[in-house]
Amino acid sequence: MTALPRRGVIALIPDDCTSCLICVQECPTWCISLDSHTEQVAEPGARRPRTVSVLDRFTIDFGLCMYCGICVDVCPFDALAWAPDVDYSAASRPGLVQDTGTLASWRIDD
Ligand code: SF4
Ligand code: SF4
Repeated sequence: MTALPRRGVIALIPDDCTSCLICVQECPTWCISLDSHTEQVAEPGARRPRTVSVLDRFTIDFGLCMYCGICVDVCPFDALAWAPDVDYSAASRPGLVQDTGTLASWRIDD
């Protein structure tokens, strides 16, 4: 039997995030924010290009996060996941805001 990772921090899989904003809206402490833009993608055989959202920046303020896991549960694309505890202490509150690169680096493979 494979041991499940214990709860720790929230990791992001940026390629799986569609910028749908569901996690932002459902987070009870409003500690998630993201920026995105739209692009037109031409697909073979399609009459019109498809509009897709592209993630520019995703942050979680761990000074506000209460580790409830709602964001992980509501993400329809499994772009958020629990990751093992890591050292993300900071000398000031702004230092507790972790951005895309750090959140992605916390990802663990199943
Ligand atoms: S664990 Fe809870 S408080 Fe923390 S970012 Fe996710 S929804 Fe927000
Ligand atoms: S719910 Fe998931 S896909 Fe939607 S913005 Fe949040 S992380 Fe990205």
